[in-house]
Amino acid sequence: MQKIKILSENLSNMIAAGEVVERPFSVVKELVENSIDAGSSRIDILIKEGGKRLVRIADNGSGMSRDDMLLSLERHATSKLGCADDLFNITTMGFRGEALASIASVSKMTIYSKEHGAVEGTELISEAGEIRDVRSAGLPGGTIVEVKNLFFNTPARKKFLKTTSTEMGHISDYVVRTALAFPAIAFSLHGDKGVVHDFPSGGSIEERVKLLFGRETAGQLLVVEEELPDLRISGFITPPTVQRSSASGLYLYVNGRFVRDKVMRHAMLQGYESFIMKGKYPLALLFLEMDPSAVDVNVHPAKSEVKFRDSTQVHDLTRLAVYRTLQKRQWLGSEEKESEGLTQNRAEDIKNAASDYMAESGSLDLRGGHTAHEESPAYGQKPSRADALPIKRVDTKREDEGSASYFSSLNVIGQAGEMYIICEGRDGLVLIDQHAAYERIAFETLKSGYVGKYFKSQNLLMPETVEVTPKEAAALEENLPDISRLGFEIEPFGGNSFIVSAVPAILGTRSVKTIIADMASELCEMGRSKAFASALDDILKRIACHSVVRGCRRMSHGEMRDLLRQMDSSGIVPHCPHGRPAHIDIKIAEIEKRFERA
Ligand code: ADP
Ligand code: MG
Repeated sequence: MQKIKILSENLSNMIAAGEVVERPFSVVKELVENSIDAGSSRIDILIKEGGKRLVRIADNGSGMSRDDMLLSLERHATSKLGCADDLFNITTMGFRGEALASIASVSKMTIYSKEHGAVEGTELISEAGEIRDVRSAGLPGGTIVEVKNLFFNTPARKKFLKTTSTEMGHISDYVVRTALAFPAIAFSLHGDKGVVHDFPSGGSIEERVKLLFGRETAGQLLVVEEELPDLRISGFITPPTVQRSSASGLYLYVNGRFVRDKVMRHAMLQGYESFIMKGKYPLALLFLEMDPSAVDVNVHPAKSEVKFRDSTQVHDLTRLAVYRTLQKRQWLGSEEKESEGLTQNRAEDIKNAASDYMAESGSLDLRGGHTAHEESPAYGQKPSRADALPIKRVDTKREDEGSASYFSSLNVIGQAGEMYIICEGRDGLVLIDQHAAYERIAFETLKSGYVGKYFKSQNLLMPETVEVTPKEAAALEENLPDISRLGFEIEPFGGNSFIVSAVPAILGTRSVKTIIADMASELCEMGRSKAFASALDDILKRIACHSVVRGCRRMSHGEMRDLLRQMDSSGIVPHCPHGRPAHIDIKIAEIEKRFERA
């Protein structure tokens, strides 16, 4: 007996709906994307009971003819793809031609549409994917799609819907991230209780940020802009002074499409790494633009994930863009001042302390003993960390453009407990922990000057073999030059094994196998290893820590001023490498409160 049969058109639409239409938010998303693709400049969204009762999207886009409208409900019916090549060159939000068919199959849907210039429009009524009626109607140009009683014919799925406010929350989030990406389009969202969002057209992204996150946040935004010949990143990020405890403020887009992308997200947070405490997040809007053929958007039914042809390049550019923006430290103060190099004495101190420590522990030699690598940059010359990245810069902006002189501009009042420097700033007191500050200066200096240049390796008594997956092996092999600059000696050993004969001396006691395996899997996933970068940071932090003389010490006025200057020139930002702050601000307003003046 024959057991296999072809599913009916309607049943296969319902199955597709399982992937595309998860909840009311997915309906909103698909319909709004259609409105955007139709060239609308105004999109109004009305939601009843979190979308369980009604989702209604009205746009003023191109509209559809009667014939197109009839076709639009067919599965695989789209006006956005012509041939197979187009699939790898997507410039529209939609392209799969299944949203309307899927949504219609699990709801009662009415579409009203009129092409601009057409004499009359069309109204189409469907129920569970069956067309019930099609008739002419007098309408303005554009399209209205009403989706009623979602999942009325699939009670099992209806049960999964959450409360009205949860569903409304998802919809509102979607409208926010879409409105941020399309400032030229007016969006409104109405729910059971009235207006939820109302974004007028013609605004800028900053204006939308102001509406959403407040004037204060919008006023602090730092502009991100960086480009390669075929990849561009732009957008806004907040300075490290804005710290959010969730990642909900990360808005990442690829060619206008909001994505949850691990590569971009990881790279962005890495750009922030030494600027923000672990577990804290900024508010960030980053727009990546690239040739549509360099990114596959057809890897997820709801199109919320993408796959880059060159994820390493995306990672590097994103991290670099964020890092450069933060390095300019625009938020610290507006007075520009010639940035002075590290004073010779202090530079020597760090260098000596570092090599003393290394001599002690028998590991690194910062006096330049490691011969395999090129000359060190002259001290005080401040080579940028970014130069160590495999990215060619195409713009001509100067590295230290906009570098601030925040700390030098403070007025030194004195010292407390032989540990803290008390200063007067523009709007209050600034207390500096001298030990944390010196440590931070040492870290920044080492980081900018010594990246990948002085890592002495230590031979293992017994070389170790490490076995990884085939993909990891490829990633590891590709990055071997970078890895060996840190002091690892690793060679391919046939198959997916590697033989490790030396490691950075300072990592001595750690498990070689774990580090290599971690690095391999990170490299594989991200294109650039987090394990690798943090191993480097760890080493530098340890050196920095040992380069600083501990304990209390009375400082002269001149020494204190000198420390402030060094804090500026070494690029110190509000947190020291261990996440402990190097300085604390006490605002006048706060003092007034304590004195009960306010
Ligand atoms: P896709 O967006 O992947 O093409 P859909 O099922 O979402 O597939 O839509 C099918 C077609 O219906 C679209 O290609 C478009 O031609 C037409 N369409 C849908 N919504 C609108 C709209 N709001 N305005 C104009 N045309 C629309
Ligand atoms: Mg669509």
